[in-house]
Amino acid sequence: MNILLVGSGGREHALAWKLAQSPLLDTLFAAPGNPGIAQHATIADLDVADHRAVIDFVRRQQIGLVVVGPEGPLVDGLADNVRAIGVPVFGPGREAARLEGSKGFTKDLCARVGIPTARYFRVTSRDGALACLDDFGDTCVIKADGLAAGKGVVVADTRAEAEAAIRDLYANGPVEAVIEERLEGPEASLFVLSDGSATAVFGSAQDHKRVGDGDTGPNTGGMGAYSPALVLTPELEERALGEIVRPTIDALAAAGTPYVGVLYAGLMLTADGPKLIEYNVRFGDPECQVLMMRFAGDLAEVLLAVAEGRLADLPAPAFADDAALTVVMAASGYPGTPEKGGAIAGIAAAERDGAVVFQAGTARRGEQLVADGGRVLAVTARGADIAAAQRAAYAAVDAIDFPSGFFRRDIGAKAIDEG
Ligand code: ATP
Repeated sequence: MNILLVGSGGREHALAWKLAQSPLLDTLFAAPGNPGIAQHATIADLDVADHRAVIDFVRRQQIGLVVVGPEGPLVDGLADNVRAIGVPVFGPGREAARLEGSKGFTKDLCARVGIPTARYFRVTSRDGALACLDDFGDTCVIKADGLAAGKGVVVADTRAEAEAAIRDLYANGPVEAVIEERLEGPEASLFVLSDGSATAVFGSAQDHKRVGDGDTGPNTGGMGAYSPALVLTPELEERALGEIVRPTIDALAAAGTPYVGVLYAGLMLTADGPKLIEYNVRFGDPECQVLMMRFAGDLAEVLLAVAEGRLADLPAPAFADDAALTVVMAASGYPGTPEKGGAIAGIAAAERDGAVVFQAGTARRGEQLVADGGRVLAVTARGADIAAAQRAAYAAVDAIDFPSGFFRRDIGAKAIDEG
């Protein structure tokens, strides 16, 4: 089978690395791809925003499965357009992708079917937003409605902070937003495959959103992750599946917009049980990197079964009984304007003991690998437990020569301290 993988980040490098190990695979194509993905795939000269061009490519190259990595093309309806020509796609259609594309849509769905989540108001004006603050006491969370790459959320500690965030949000006119109750508790990410009706848990992870050690500084796309998320005990996972994810999948199926792909539930484990913080309609980046390191099955077989509605025919996805941890190396300036062109060396040395260096924002200048984006590498390793995976990942990081890059030194530290 030929597979087309859409995307160009560390997540897609991890997917390409795992797909390339499948005996079902003939040729793996990727678009736009990156130099790391190019180690496992043929880079297709294809503009993925041009759905007609993607469809032509899929026909011409006899693609048997399209795997969409990032949320953008899903929210744009790429999966619907490819499915319309009868080719299986791993990734939800436009309507189901609203779970990530619109926070208001998700909150309304939760309210309709009784999914535990923070109490909320949908607002469209500054005065409307300010008026809800009375309801929440001193703390609340302000969220712009649409895709904001992690930058559209303010968790306010005081009423003054909330008011400032609302003024900021409405500085340029009306926008849709959600104002919600601030929840307390540890966070964890649960990944669930869905073929539209059947579901299967596909591991858990914890990410590290802030740029600096000790969870300081601005939010990023993610500076590191580990799997499994120890705080998500089997009992809590069962509850999250039964009370949150399954009712969501069932509601979308009932609405005639079935969810096909991986649903990433961002959870807060409150004193009252797991509550939904957000959904993402794709694998997390860098959570995907740690999941792929531990996944013990044939990824192409599983993703095809999801895309073809045959998930119930497969055994539950199997993961190694160990841990994986990834450290993101970013270009200086990130999450602001990252410095481009910094030389990178030492990847082979870093991978000598089994670590894998997944590439995100990289490019080739002649023979030289250089930084070409904010998050540049995701250095990923396994170990018997999180502490061992952490040691192996940082040993690999230390073998990499990337003078214009930086990384957090404390990925996994909290879990190890608490463990
Ligand atoms: P991303 O896609 O980057 O994860 P996002 O912009 O979609 O982020 P959310 O995940 O909804 O936004 O929120 C970002 C972070 O803000 C969460 O990981 C969580 O730490 C915090 N947060 C969001 N909602 C709440 C809440 N109701 N109570 C407490 N913290 C919250």
